[in-house]
Amino acid sequence: MSIFLSLPAGPAFTLDRLHRAGHDAFVVGGCVRDSLAGLVPHDWDICTSAPPQEICRVFADIPQALPGIEYGTVTLLLESGPCEVTTFRVEQGYSDGRRPDGVSFTSRLEEDLARRDFTVNAMAWNPWQGLQDPFGGQEDLTAGRLRCVGQPEVRFAEDGLRILRGLRFYSCRGLVPDEECARGLHAEKHRLARVSAERCFAELWRLLAGDQVEQVLNEYADVFFVLLPELAPMAGFEQHNPYHCLDVWRHTARAVANGGGDPVVRLALLLHDMGKPASFFMEDGVGHFYGHASRSRDMAGPLLERLHAPARLTKEVCRLVELHDTPIQATRPAIRRWLNKLGEVQLRRLLAIHRADALAKTAHVLAQRLAILDQAEEILGELLAGDACFSLKDLAVKGGDLLTAGIPQGPQVGRLLQKLLEQVLAEQLPNQKEALLRAALELHQKEN
Ligand code: ATP
Ligand code: MG
Repeated sequence: MSIFLSLPAGPAFTLDRLHRAGHDAFVVGGCVRDSLAGLVPHDWDICTSAPPQEICRVFADIPQALPGIEYGTVTLLLESGPCEVTTFRVEQGYSDGRRPDGVSFTSRLEEDLARRDFTVNAMAWNPWQGLQDPFGGQEDLTAGRLRCVGQPEVRFAEDGLRILRGLRFYSCRGLVPDEECARGLHAEKHRLARVSAERCFAELWRLLAGDQVEQVLNEYADVFFVLLPELAPMAGFEQHNPYHCLDVWRHTARAVANGGGDPVVRLALLLHDMGKPASFFMEDGVGHFYGHASRSRDMAGPLLERLHAPARLTKEVCRLVELHDTPIQATRPAIRRWLNKLGEVQLRRLLAIHRADALAKTAHVLAQRLAILDQAEEILGELLAGDACFSLKDLAVKGGDLLTAGIPQGPQVGRLLQKLLEQVLAEQLPNQKEALLRAALELHQKEN
């Protein structure tokens, strides 16, 4: 059966123009994989037999960006968006385990496909010759199988990032490594240590969002511990606690998988219990982990910095890790206080973390915990729907109003505003100008 891919205007135009100029040209890699899987590709890469200078000539009337020209890539700045066109190429030697020592160009598609990492990523297509699939990628895709092009050990040793890419395809696409690939992933895991922190972090970030993340974290724990050695003591660490039926690492893997769609939540869940092994002690046959949340926070910061995670993300994740174990009461004043402390986005994340954490523990108190979280979320929704006040900037009086009402300038103005806010958060005062001014004057008189 011949396969037809429906291409957006930009790639269709580019293939057509190269074809008319007498060159072979194909869409290739991830976009073919995603199209065959019934997904919408997020980028379309094109490969061609035309050498780089010839690509430039064929598209002389189109603006071009050339930062990748050394590797044969010309980026066409089409009206519909940028489109990368790369000359068929082979790579020579990977002495540093990160990038090829050099590249050379070839006129044969199959040679270009052979340098690609996995069979599902080594397919190409054009309307004239149809699907080009010399390594059986289509069959692997249908079978949900991740297989290397060539020998796994060799391919992972060439470029350690492929290890994390492979685990990402497992986690996000459900492509399970075949036996040889799995063996290669474990055997070559140490290659990850050579890969740049940014590239590892970018893969980890995407991997954590996958539907199969629990299996991946459990089956390839040893691989993750090369990248994140601080997490290694969690593996097999029994909790000896009635709330837990899983060891710390398995609990973590389950919690990450329960984390929903926000990657910040998933990352925080990966790190939330990393301080547990160091906080453990036994009392009357029961395991305790007092202070583990702040210990986890203290460990998460340096770990994320080492991975070159963005500073703001690091701060947000550390805060969530620190608070993951602090009880949240489902009352309006309590939720107001949390809003004041964290703001809406972080509070929603914290609630998602509490939920995911609870779902990864033993079932006996689960219903009760989930009911409290449901209620907390409902209150949060109500508070946000009203024009509720959570911080000084929402307060219905400002410093100037207090001065006008006769309170003299000085540090007491800020103090009074803070007290008013506290009473509003506790729902002891409404957020209304007159009521607040009256209360401010009373407080001021009491103080003097
Ligand atoms: P996605 O775009 O969803 O991240 P992708 O497979 O398309 O996945 P890209 O980084 O866009 O990833 O790479 C495009 C193609 O280039 C891949 O499909 C693969 O054929 C090849 N490729 C990318 N990175 C590597 C690598 N480290 N080793 C070998 N081939 C690679
Ligand atoms: Mg891609």
